[in-house]
Amino acid sequence: MALGLLNLTAMASRWLLGLLTGLALTGACSSEEAVDEPEDDGWLDGKGDAASAVNVASTRLDVDLATHSAVATIELERYGNVALEVGGLTITGVTDDRGRRRYKIVDGTLRVTWVRGPLVVSYGFREHDAADGLLPGGSTVVWPYFCGNLFPCHSQPADGTRFELAIDGVPAGKTAVYPEAITSDAPPYMLAWAVGSYTRASLGVTSAGTEVAVYWLPRGETAARAGTKRLRDVFDWYERTLGPYTFGGEVAAVSVVWGEGLYGGMEHHPYWHVARDAMGDELTQAHEAAHGWFGDGVRLRCWEDFVLSEGTTSYLAARALGAVAGPAKEAQIWAEYQQELDDAIAAGGAPAWPTGCNRIDIIKDKLFTNLPYMQGAFFYKDVAAAVGADRLDQVIGRFYRAHKNQPASMQEMLDAIRADTGFDAKPIADARLRRRYSPR
Ligand SMILES: [Zn+2]
Repeated sequence: MALGLLNLTAMASRWLLGLLTGLALTGACSSEEAVDEPEDDGWLDGKGDAASAVNVASTRLDVDLATHSAVATIELERYGNVALEVGGLTITGVTDDRGRRRYKIVDGTLRVTWVRGPLVVSYGFREHDAADGLLPGGSTVVWPYFCGNLFPCHSQPADGTRFELAIDGVPAGKTAVYPEAITSDAPPYMLAWAVGSYTRASLGVTSAGTEVAVYWLPRGETAARAGTKRLRDVFDWYERTLGPYTFGGEVAAVSVVWGEGLYGGMEHHPYWHVARDAMGDELTQAHEAAHGWFGDGVRLRCWEDFVLSEGTTSYLAARALGAVAGPAKEAQIWAEYQQELDDAIAAGGAPAWPTGCNRIDIIKDKLFTNLPYMQGAFFYKDVAAAVGADRLDQVIGRFYRAHKNQPASMQEMLDAIRADTGFDAKPIADARLRRRYSPR
């Protein structure tokens, strides 16, 4: 995500955070349906650790936009007790291989015992206006943990899922831009669609054979062309430097209407979203494209590892644009980053890399600030000064290839830097990433 990456005022940032913080998933209801074998009533009632629930292997969504209804077909990693986030959904039916299943919804979580075969959940969803589901502008955003407003899910990024998506009921004259299939494990927040009056243009094909394209909205061509003029080359640099892209053979930057206060982009690979006002910004485009390798390609083991997504992509975007547009461009980006870093330090927030695992609420505990983005980028820049930027590119590439489509941690990145180069990056991490800044 590149919210706040450029030109986002502190006021707008607080506006967004305030909206996100004000949300709550609550409510409990239950359904009494035919039971064909003994049930674990304790599980249904919310006892038993939801973390012990079966993980998701793949998620197929058949969505009808006209009725705001959908059917989710969820393949699980094994048979067992299921707990899925559904806080914003109206569940109308739950079946598996045995037929209709009894279920309960406790604190926004759908609980079903001993699911056998794919779990099929029929449900309704509604529009949300706080960047937490289907937005009035026609696109969806469920980052960081709002997937339960759009489909039954585990919001933890460590639990990757493959996806299939089919969308019906698109209004006449509009196009729905979405991936029909994502065949490698991805974080639950990666999936999205965008509906609008789109025009598509191809930007060319990379040396690895990936087609890079762009979708703009009416009157958006000039900005879209400016922001994506080097996007094919940037994508090509990522593929050649880091390794193969795993989310399909066609990618695109898609302009979306997010509304006031939301700026930047969101890593909805392979068709990442960029706010209409940011479409002309090359750095935002390069940043969102880089998430195909970090954040989406390599997932976060814990929310505390957010810097592994945003710091790494911020660094890679600067490197890639430097490689394809020249050192002056890269120097200009680092000057912008320095200003953003100074502003982020003045604003304060959680350390860029907090200790612990999934103990933090990324929104409420103020990890979602510009600190992980900018301190993360400068962490790599400091390491590059010690080991060489080209050598660090190789370390990051090896790390990607070792961890792609799996979760990984920032500590593993430090370990990889040390293993590959002998350089101990811990003092830099302590100085930049572990430090807490109070608001000034
Ligand atoms: Zn990002």
